[in-house]
Amino acid sequence: MGVSPRLVVVVVAATLLPLAASELIELSYTFNDDAPTSPRLRQFKQELVRKGRNKINLWVELYDICTSEHAGTHIDAPRHNSENGWTLEAIPTSRLWRIPAVVVDVSKIIKEKRLKNYEVNQKGLDGLGSATRSWGKMVRNYWSYAGLDQNNNLNFPGIGKGGAEWLANHGKNNSHTIGIVGVGIDTLSLDKGQSVRMPAHAALFAGNIYGLENVANLDKLPTVGSYVTVMPLRIKGGTGAPARIIAEVGQGSSALASTLRPLLTGLLLPFILALRFLQDA
Ligand SMILES: [Zn+2]
Repeated sequence: MGVSPRLVVVVVAATLLPLAASELIELSYTFNDDAPTSPRLRQFKQELVRKGRNKINLWVELYDICTSEHAGTHIDAPRHNSENGWTLEAIPTSRLWRIPAVVVDVSKIIKEKRLKNYEVNQKGLDGLGSATRSWGKMVRNYWSYAGLDQNNNLNFPGIGKGGAEWLANHGKNNSHTIGIVGVGIDTLSLDKGQSVRMPAHAALFAGNIYGLENVANLDKLPTVGSYVTVMPLRIKGGTGAPARIIAEVGQGSSALASTLRPLLTGLLLPFILALRFLQDA
C-alpha cells in the first residue's frame, strides 16, 4: 500500500523545483469583513454555524458566508456591463492562468509632473493619484482608499474612456491574435469613483476583457516580466466573484519584458495591471 520513502523525496523535489526559480506574490486581500468593498454593495459577512467538539469528540468548525459578487479583491466578468459578455464560467481558463502582466505606475509620472490629487489626462488615460505612494497602500484606511468626501461621494482614480478603448483595441491595432485579456487596478473600481457612465467597464467588457478590482501589492510587481494567475469562483451566470490572484516573478522574463515594453507608452494611472496572452507579443 505505502509509497516508498525514496519516491516521496523525488515527488517533493519535483514540486519545489519550478517554485525555486520564481517568487510568488500575493495580489489578493484577505477576504473578511474589512475587505475593500464599494459602500453601495453588500459587504462580506461570515456567520458562525458551529464551533466546538461534537458527541464523538471531533472538532467541528464551519461558517456561512454572504457577500456581493463584487466585494474585496474580485474579478468582474464582462457580463457585468456587457449584455452578451462572458459570465464567470465562460471565461476560458487559458485567459486566467499565467498571463504575462504589465504594471503601469502612474504615481511616479504624477510626481514628475508635480500633479497631485487632481485629475490628469494624457494619451487616453486619466486618473487621480497620489504622488507619494500607490493607491492600494491606503487600503486599511477605507475613507482614504474610497476617497469619501463630506457628501459621501467616492473619489478615487480610474481608467478613462479613451484609455480603456486604447487598451481594448491595442491588440487589434497591432495585429495581435488575442490582445489584452484583463485589466486590474488597485482601487475599488476600474472607473473613477465619481463615474456614472462607467466608460472603462463598458469599453473593456465589450471586448470580453475582464476586470480585477482591489488588487493588492501591485507596487511589488516589476513593470514587466511577471505572470499573473487569477482564480475566481466559477459561479454559473455570475458577473463577479472573489478571486485569489497570484503573481509569479522570476526567470525567463527578460525576453518577454522587451517585447511588452512598447505597451507601456502612453499609459497613466496609479497602478494598472494589463494581462496579455504570450502569443500576442
Ligand atoms: Zn466589480
